[in-house]
Amino acid sequence: MPPDIEPFLARVGGDPLTGAFEERASGPSAGGMRMRTPPPWDGGPFEDFAAQAYLETTERPLALYVHVPFCHHHCAFCPFYKNRTSKTFSAEYAALLAQEIEATARVLRGVIHLRPVRAIYFGGGTPSDLEAADMARLIRQLRAAFPVEADAEITVEGRVRGFTGDKAKAWVNAGANRFSLGVQTTDTKLRRRLGRIADRNEIRENLDALCASGATVVADLIYGFPGQTKELLVEDVRFLSEETGIHGLDLYKLNMFPDSPLDKAVRLGKMPAPPSLRERAEMFGAAYAALLAHGHEHFSPKHWRRDAKERCIYNRLALGGADMLPFGSGAGGRLGAVSLGNAGMLETYAEKVARGEKPLGRIAPSPRRDAPDSFAHALTTATESLRLPRLESWPESHRQQGEKLLAQWRRAGLLSGEEDEHGLRLTCAGNFWSAHMKTLLLDFVGATKSD
Ligand code: SF4
Repeated sequence: MPPDIEPFLARVGGDPLTGAFEERASGPSAGGMRMRTPPPWDGGPFEDFAAQAYLETTERPLALYVHVPFCHHHCAFCPFYKNRTSKTFSAEYAALLAQEIEATARVLRGVIHLRPVRAIYFGGGTPSDLEAADMARLIRQLRAAFPVEADAEITVEGRVRGFTGDKAKAWVNAGANRFSLGVQTTDTKLRRRLGRIADRNEIRENLDALCASGATVVADLIYGFPGQTKELLVEDVRFLSEETGIHGLDLYKLNMFPDSPLDKAVRLGKMPAPPSLRERAEMFGAAYAALLAHGHEHFSPKHWRRDAKERCIYNRLALGGADMLPFGSGAGGRLGAVSLGNAGMLETYAEKVARGEKPLGRIAPSPRRDAPDSFAHALTTATESLRLPRLESWPESHRQQGEKLLAQWRRAGLLSGEEDEHGLRLTCAGNFWSAHMKTLLLDFVGATKSD
């Protein structure tokens, strides 16, 4: 029996951006996404299963993820900080990565050439803190060891301070073609309060130098910082669009992690309270309008571009369930039906690498993927294209009620009324609430979301 649509209705009549729902769902609800503990692993060490797992899913795209869990210092809002950079960290860590890449390729010899690599991503941490020659060697090593496609996307993530034009040139010469910079905000005063050192001039100069390397350059912005206003956010968009040559812009909502330095600063009264839900919605709406006004195309929920050079391949592969081979301390990935996580403790990682092992800390059967013909899969695909799935992809038993629900959400201003083969297009407000709507729809059809 399809459920009553009453609990899923949006508010009609007010501003849908700020008031369509009471509050955004923070996670899966009991009736929708059911999390499962994976059964224990009995497939033996990496060396025993890797080649077979590598061949199991040759139809899936393959990407390589390299984690660099080092930062110059801990930014106040960040839950990902792990290790502080030192004078010797670059050479030492790059040597460990080189050993791990070599050992992994050795295990996969005989099959490695059977899967072309579509994307390589150096994430962190702060990969741009690696020395130019160390990173360049790693990029070359990966390209030599794996069959990397000629037009594969090779991204290096980093932050403004220390990401020099010389590094960018060296890495482009080695094969990198995309740089992703965590700018977060361009307001110097707010940056300093968050632990970001570089000022606006340095941002402008570094982005210019990165763009001059010929690579695609994208900048991340975050909205929802304590003390941030929608005017500051709109100015971020203007500055990055008018005063730099970047090709794309990513817009993320701040997740305030309990006990992060930022959370503690707010609780101690050293920082103002973060913006309310209504204020965050207004910030999103203002940035959305500013991005469109500056000629950016909104092409996936958090990604905007003004140049087709920006393809965002890695993020799309990650979301679409591609296989990911992990490298580096704390890197996660999956291969065939196996979920992989490298040791997060640097010492453990280094010991395993020194023994010539794949330095895994976690191996588990990979969570079941949504079947390609399931509603959950259609929902993920549609929201990634800024839409909701058309009724044909809903379970037949839920279509009649679903049609009423979609009509109500359209009246509420969340759907534009435009419909194409990808689905029903979300409005600006619909995009703000899309994660919440996705959770509601999974609940509505009683779907299980497994990964
Ligand atoms: S935001 Fe980036 S640079 Fe800052 S602590 Fe987190 S990972 Fe490191």
